[in-house]
Parts: sequence; structure tokens; C-alpha cells
Amino acid sequence: MKDCAFCRIVARESPADIEYEDDAVLAFRDIYPKAPVHVLIVPKRHIPSVMAMEPGDAEAVGRCVLAARALGEAKGFAARGYRLRVNCGPEGGQVVYHVHVHFLAGGRASGA
Ligand code: 5GP
Ligand code: ZN
Repeated sequence: MKDCAFCRIVARESPADIEYEDDAVLAFRDIYPKAPVHVLIVPKRHIPSVMAMEPGDAEAVGRCVLAARALGEAKGFAARGYRLRVNCGPEGGQVVYHVHVHFLAGGRASGA
């Protein structure tokens, strides 16, 4: 998607601090971190929102959660834990309409 900030990051047309990548998923640091560790995990394929998800999108979104597990282990939070957050739609606080899982860690409330 040309007008999508996260598609541009996936396509390497915009810069980002990349923390994890596999065939389906990219994870990069949030530009305005709300926790000591704040990473956004996105499917490489454009899916606008959980609210627009089709059954065929379940694998891609599930892979984001698996990537969160890998990130948690790589960054030393496997035992301490972390928070995953998915904002959905206007009243859910979603600003960027490319599905993303917030990975928040490093503090007790992890950016509540
Ligand atoms: P939302 O409110 O949609 O769940 O979260 C969007 C998040 O993306 C926000 O935390 C915001 O700081 C982050 N963000 C928005 N634009 C960019 C960008 O171009 N690069 C990066 N790394 N983060 C972004
Ligand atoms: Zn996109």
C-alpha cells in the first residue's frame, strides 16, 4: 500500500530500527516509545485493522504474536514478561491502519 507508513517501512522506503524479521513479519522500534522497550510488530502484508480481518489473515496476525515471543526471548523478557497491545479502530486508539502488535516491556506496567 503506497500511502501506508508501515508498508513503506516493510519495503525499506522509510527508515526504522528493525528488531526482528522473518518471511511474514517485521518488528521495529516505535518512534515515540511509551515504555523502556517499545517495539511494533507488523505483518509484511497490508491488513488495515483487526476490525477488517478476514479468516485468511489469521495466520499473518498469529505470526506477529509468535514474533513477540521470539522478541521477548531475544531481549531477555521471557521470565519477566511484557505486554502486547493491539489498538482497534478510532475508539480503540488505532492511529496507523496497518495491523500492529505493540510489544511493551521493561517496566512493571510496561507503558500502561
Ligand atoms: P496505534 O495508535 O495505531 O496503535 O499505534 C501507532 C504507533 O506507531 C504509535 O505508537 C506511534 O508512535 C508509532 N508510529 C507512527 N508512525 C511511525 C513511524 O513512521 N515509524 C515508527 N517507528 N513508529 C511510528
Ligand atoms: Zn500497510
